[in-house]
Amino acid sequence: METNALHIWPRGQFMLIALPNMDRSFTCTLFFPMEGPTSFATVRTEVEIFRFFEEQFPDAVPLILDLVQDFQTNPTGKLGSVYCSPWHVEDKAVLLGDAAHAVVPFFGQGMNASFQDCSVLNQLIKEYDNDWGKILSEFSRTHVQNGHAIADMALENYLEMRDHVNDPSYIKRRELELKMEHIFPDKFIPRYSMVSFHRIPYAEVYKRGEMQFEALDTILNVFDDLSEINEETVRKYIT
Ligand SMILES: Cc1cc2nc3c(=O)[nH]c(=O)nc-3n(C[C@H](O)[C@H](O)[C@H](O)COP(=O)(O)OP(=O)(O)OC[C@H]3O[C@@H](n4cnc5c(N)ncnc54)[C@H](O)[C@@H]3O)c2cc1C
Repeated sequence: METNALHIWPRGQFMLIALPNMDRSFTCTLFFPMEGPTSFATVRTEVEIFRFFEEQFPDAVPLILDLVQDFQTNPTGKLGSVYCSPWHVEDKAVLLGDAAHAVVPFFGQGMNASFQDCSVLNQLIKEYDNDWGKILSEFSRTHVQNGHAIADMALENYLEMRDHVNDPSYIKRRELELKMEHIFPDKFIPRYSMVSFHRIPYAEVYKRGEMQFEALDTILNVFDDLSEINEETVRKYIT
């Protein structure tokens, strides 16, 4: 198995991922419903665990040395998103980081979003010189939308990883997206790149991402063959 990559076994309602460690081993996480016909509630015993993994992830089974022991004894966490507004109380208190906007981990942005809170708040402290009522109300007014946007995008990324990455139409769309970025590097930046490699506020990323998704839909409707995509043929679809 490629040791410098994230591996995903997407299975619709659940997925297994393997994150690479520095020593070339992997840490696996199963994202799985708590209840339901196929869930932590129904996969408990040694027989059930082996049956489930043999059916769903047969290529992973020989690579996981203590499958039953790990499955039964490793802690089972719950995922959640926090959406709240405002993030402050008058000039007295403010929420930052996960307390304000805990997100599911599928964009790898929880800590980044928290650092961003610090830099935004720092900027406002400089701007409004000790006027804490103004500093905190501006913080909520301008920045809560970014916390909500990254929480939404993290959930959407989960669905993408869990349901879509094996779908041929998704793969074609992703190929087009990368092609568009290559042709129009200043105008068309895939959402993942905007979030991970730029400092564009999350709420703006969300809006730009939606517009780009629409443009991709239109282009995919017009062109069957992606080899026809070039600057001339698709310029009119980019605003
Ligand atoms: C498994 C995992 C993987 C992650 N991967 C990434 C990633 O790849 N990229 C990324 O950007 N983010 C990632 N995150 C998210 C990131 O860790 C969090 O978003 C970030 O730590 C939030 O920082 P925080 O300071 O708001 O909260 P925390 O780091 O949770 O800090 C809160 C602190 O408050 C303390 N505390 C709680 N209650 C009290 C109390 N009553 N009195 C005193 N102290 C208290 C806690 O002990 C803790 O030390 C990951 C999170 C997890 C769990």
